[in-house]
Amino acid sequence: MKLFAFEKTSDISDAVKRASSSDTSQPAAKIRFIAGGTTLLDLMKLSVESPDTLVDINRLPLDKIETTRDGGLKIGALVRNSDLANHPYVKSHFPVLSEALLSGASAQLRNMATTGGNLLQKTRCAYYRDTAYACNKREPGSGCPAIEGENRSLAVLGTSDSCIATNPSDMSVALMALEATIVIKGPGGDREVAIDDFFLLPGSTPHLETVLKPGDLITHVVVRPIPAGGKSIYLKLRDRASYEFALGSAAVILHIEAGRVSRVRIALGGVGTKPWRSAEAEKALSGAEANESNFRKAADEALRNAKPQTHNKFKIELAKRCLAHALKMAATP
Ligand SMILES: Cc1cc2nc3c(=O)[nH]c(=O)nc-3n(C[C@H](O)[C@H](O)[C@H](O)COP(=O)(O)OP(=O)(O)OC[C@H]3O[C@@H](n4cnc5c(N)ncnc54)[C@H](O)[C@@H]3O)c2cc1C
Ligand code: SF4
Repeated sequence: MKLFAFEKTSDISDAVKRASSSDTSQPAAKIRFIAGGTTLLDLMKLSVESPDTLVDINRLPLDKIETTRDGGLKIGALVRNSDLANHPYVKSHFPVLSEALLSGASAQLRNMATTGGNLLQKTRCAYYRDTAYACNKREPGSGCPAIEGENRSLAVLGTSDSCIATNPSDMSVALMALEATIVIKGPGGDREVAIDDFFLLPGSTPHLETVLKPGDLITHVVVRPIPAGGKSIYLKLRDRASYEFALGSAAVILHIEAGRVSRVRIALGGVGTKPWRSAEAEKALSGAEANESNFRKAADEALRNAKPQTHNKFKIELAKRCLAHALKMAATP
């Protein structure tokens, strides 16, 4: 078994400095931050990841949930998924976020999993997790057996000839609908990235999943308030009722005035190579009467460019029904 150094730190700049000598944006980086460890340790046991050094960031002062002056949220990267989901202000003002978190993993895992780690969790594509197979995401240029192989749970939106892996996060889908901002500290200073720009499409470089650069540490996630009168929900469809990743999910924030949609934000999970914001569905619904027929039309728009693989065509209709039903639920007083 390979040995690794385990370095604890309580200083944010020190954590960034320690990690910056390794290209942490690449597969098989030699240095990794470790937070809850619920993704990383699994991958190390499978030999998918084999860092020499783990920089333990659990002592950093990034475990607070703060409300911002405008009524939004500033969430530390080390806030545990269970704490965020069960926070009274999050439950009352951002139900979509609480529901998405509670739909993920198990209670035990949510007690360990962190906000930063959840954003960076890896695909559940079986070939990625098994080093006996080629995989462009794990080993760039080696091939993608999923395209001709077992792809029932894989993506239909944002795929490429190099990779069709689904982004598995539920929380990130809610954050996409909430138009969250990711706050990053890197060797070159601090920066903020809109969540829609944070995740990359696979293209010909599926091993690059986010805009993070070597040494970059996610410090916070900032969420603006949902304007008054909006109703938000997260609906997740999966093979079993708990402890299972999404086959399709929808995060919806809906405002209705005088029977018409005055504002809507829509994101889909389980179907995209990244958490999928649907500008097409939002456009189709804006100003339209809030009724089932228009919800279905919006869902059709959201999946218009979907590209099925050999075993996952069913996901297209599933995702449409999921979104149309989520919109109906959000429209119900
Ligand atoms: C059995 C099982 C079922 C699951 N089911 C679901 C599910 O249904 N839905 C769902 O959404 N998720 C699910 N998950 C995934 C789970 O949510 C993630 O494993 C978890 O959120 C990762 O957080 P962590 O803190 O444990 O990350 P870690 O494992 O500690 O880290 C993950 C990655 O992020 C990096 N990292 C961590 N924090 C930072 C930071 N602040 N800045 C920069 N890099 C950082 C690490 O270096 C590592 O590469 C499941 C996991 C398991 C094991
Ligand atoms: S879909 Fe992506 S993660 Fe899965 S085998 Fe292909 S390249 Fe690897």
